[in-house]
Amino acid sequence: MIQRYPTKQIYVGNVAVGGDAPISVQSMTYSRTADVAATVEQINRLHFAGADIVRVAVPDYEDAEALKAIRAQTSLPLVADVHFNYRLALIAAESVDCIRLNPGNIGEKSRVKEVVKACTERNIPIRIGVNCGSLEKEFEDRYGQTAKGMVESALYNIKFLEDLGFTDMKVSLKASDVERTVEAYRMLRPMVPYPFHLGVTEAGTVFHATIKSAIGLGTLLLEGIGDTMRVSITGELEKEIEVGRAILKDSGAAKEGLNIISCPTCGRIEADLVKAVAEVEEKTKHIKTPLNVSVMGCVVNAIGEAKSADVAIAYGKGSGLIMVKGEVVAKLPEEQLVDRFLSEVEKMAGEMED
Ligand code: SF4
Repeated sequence: MIQRYPTKQIYVGNVAVGGDAPISVQSMTYSRTADVAATVEQINRLHFAGADIVRVAVPDYEDAEALKAIRAQTSLPLVADVHFNYRLALIAAESVDCIRLNPGNIGEKSRVKEVVKACTERNIPIRIGVNCGSLEKEFEDRYGQTAKGMVESALYNIKFLEDLGFTDMKVSLKASDVERTVEAYRMLRPMVPYPFHLGVTEAGTVFHATIKSAIGLGTLLLEGIGDTMRVSITGELEKEIEVGRAILKDSGAAKEGLNIISCPTCGRIEADLVKAVAEVEEKTKHIKTPLNVSVMGCVVNAIGEAKSADVAIAYGKGSGLIMVKGEVVAKLPEEQLVDRFLSEVEKMAGEMED
């Protein structure tokens, strides 16, 4: 059982982040934010894919002004990503549920003060987002692009807000490699009470980003670190959510959906297990109830796995067994096994949801 690090709870719209709130998964649109139709279309896709929060880039006035129309067309909590120009943050604050900005790159304290005032009035948090590739010059000069540099930058930006009496914040410390990312989050965790937004940034295409994020975020989650997360993928939006949810589930940080145990197959196999598992995976995607299921190629390990599975298939030669909670409920020809298995899974999920 993972013990979550105790953190202050904040709200991004109606999504609680930190404390005992479930770890949320977020992503970011890549349309030009000023293109309202395209941005809303991407937000809707992310919503459908299961995102809890969506971030949009606000590099220009047109983008900031578009947020009102975007806000009116989605219920998903929105985060505005702002750099350098505090006026953009002031406009964004009127429509979104969180502002991502680093006080250090906004400059004069009076400007940050205005942003803090706007966020306080609207009761919205700020995410301090430290990125190893864009540390403030003084920290990069002093520490280089290191975990220590990221932590010092975060502490500086956190103090900036705290000195203005603002503590409604979350923090991210992203590097493009696992080692520095994990080291930075670990280092900062005992030093501040704020929730952490996890991510390995610029992690690459689906294959590599999945591996880097699974190692990096998985390591931190197992240590109880992390309150919300983004998997950064050079690829399609939905993948970020799919991979993020899988990391939460497979690390044990969230209990949702099916945990599918399937064997790698070997020379003893007497069925098309690859096809069967693919079908099971595809047809159970919609199930949110946490269930352990196993789909195994022969009796050698199938019976043992089935004992701790809610529903299981043990393939044999031309036929196989369906087991529910360790008990054999049917012996069927091979071609009927997946259908029966799926109906047992649906039945159990339905009973558990009632
Ligand atoms: S369960 Fe059977 S088929 Fe699958 S890997 Fe083990 S021995 Fe091989």
